Amino acid sequence: MTIARRYVTLDTLVAIFPGLASFCTGSPPLFLAECVNARGKIQGMDPRQKDWTNLLFLVLSPIAGIGGTILYASRFGVQWWEPTLCLTLFFAIGLSIGSGYHRYFSHRAYECHPAVESVMLFFGAMALQNSALQWSRDHREHHRFVDTDRDPYNIKRGFLWAHILWIFYKQDPDRNFDAVPDLKRNPRVMWQHRYARVIGIGVGLGLPTLVGAFFGRPLGGLLWGGFLRIVLVHHTTFFINSLAHMWGARPYSTENTARDNWFLAFFTHGEGFHNFHHAFPSDFRNGIRWYHWDPNKWLIQSFRATRLARNLRVTPPPLVENAKLKVAAAVTEARLARVPTGIADDLRARAEQARARMEETLNLWKEAYARACELKAAKRTGQRPPSETMREIRRQMREYERRFRATRLEWKAALDRFTDLPAVQGF
Ligand SMILES: [Zn+2]
Ligand SMILES: [Zn+2]
Repeated sequence: MTIARRYVTLDTLVAIFPGLASFCTGSPPLFLAECVNARGKIQGMDPRQKDWTNLLFLVLSPIAGIGGTILYASRFGVQWWEPTLCLTLFFAIGLSIGSGYHRYFSHRAYECHPAVESVMLFFGAMALQNSALQWSRDHREHHRFVDTDRDPYNIKRGFLWAHILWIFYKQDPDRNFDAVPDLKRNPRVMWQHRYARVIGIGVGLGLPTLVGAFFGRPLGGLLWGGFLRIVLVHHTTFFINSLAHMWGARPYSTENTARDNWFLAFFTHGEGFHNFHHAFPSDFRNGIRWYHWDPNKWLIQSFRATRLARNLRVTPPPLVENAKLKVAAAVTEARLARVPTGIADDLRARAEQARARMEETLNLWKEAYARACELKAAKRTGQRPPSETMREIRRQMREYERRFRATRLEWKAALDRFTDLPAVQGF
């Protein structure tokens, strides 16, 4: 009941319907109509022209994938290799989207060997989610213009729009790839852009059919490894654009609608930690704790361990803590403001002092971290900083981190004394 009250608000329910209603009536979605430009187009798409290829495929593939597989299984049973094939391809293709299309091509969160690039481009194409070039262009625009009309899957237009309806409209033919100049220079990306649909349909459906034929059940292979897998990869990815902008906590930033949701992260190979991702998009991790389910992060780390990837980008820990502190302070301050002055003033003063000490320690920690980065960079250019200096900086960082955590406990203890204050999520 508490969970239902916390997450399923009236706003959430209302947000689900506008996109569908306007789509069914054939008119541009209500929100889009307001931003149609002089040429009758909105950012990135033409709201009057439905893309019937996408539309039919996205409507019919769940019928074949879910309905067809259930019918087939009830008539002919299930053999062990069918769900195994489905799950294997679900992981191989889902990880190519998460680690490849998303964290590598869209965000440049690490550098990798061309062989890794090629494998991710190949399996990524089998997801039938456009080429890496187009996917990354849309995704960079999503980050840049999040929650506005220039965001291709703007959640403010409703759940269904962000989830799937945006794909049902034709792209504006004048739309270019200026947002992805680095990818335009990559010959492997451009090759995949030309053949993405051929690979997606030819290999994405042909390969599982061949595996099925090997076991004497080509239709079983096509349904489990082809259509059912396509539907699972499609909708788990789509949930990041829809549900991960509606359902979950916002511990790192409240400046946009992105949420952290461990439940979604489980089905999306870690992409569900979306609030952290929008706050620090170039970090190669989405789930930053060791226990956060983020197979994309583990895959990228395994590339590094085998020297197939390098320069993994990591947000400095004091910056992460700084972001969390800002959100937590804004929430608690709004609540503290409601407690009339004259009541619990000593507690309020104690909380304020603890917060000031926290900020002071955080700044020292940030400075020590920046100094450590400078020394590391100097080391890379061949200079050799004295080892005692490095040791001293590391000791300082550990000390500032310890002090920061201690003052945070003091701050929380002071806030806990205000009985009507809510716990701050994730802090
Ligand atoms: Zn997002
Ligand atoms: Zn992203």
